Amino acid sequence: MPPVGAHLSEEWAEVEYGLQEGFVSTIEGDELVVHGECPRCHAQTAWNFRTGQMDEVSKAIADSVAAQETTILCACGYTHKNRPADANENGCGAYWPIKIPEVGQ
Ligand SMILES: [Zn+2]
Ligand SMILES: [Zn+2]
Repeated sequence: MPPVGAHLSEEWAEVEYGLQEGFVSTIEGDELVVHGECPRCHAQTAWNFRTGQMDEVSKAIADSVAAQETTILCACGYTHKNRPADANENGCGAYWPIKIPEVGQ
């Protein structure tokens, strides 16, 4: 579980947000990891994008996914009341698009 900060324990609800900014990418092992904050419950969350073995080729792949738009789901890991038992996510239900940031920005 992430540390409790300014997290809001709203009831679970599927809520669509507009494009969010302020996300940061890092390379961890063979994954591109995007870090940022959920616009709804304000948890700091990370999303992993597999890039394969992190050699020069996959570094190029990581670069090429930068600036692509993708929709991500809150995955804060906290308990949100009324989350459906069959939900295959562990956040507050919020989802929103981001432009994958370039690594190191
Ligand atoms: Zn959330
Ligand atoms: Zn949350």
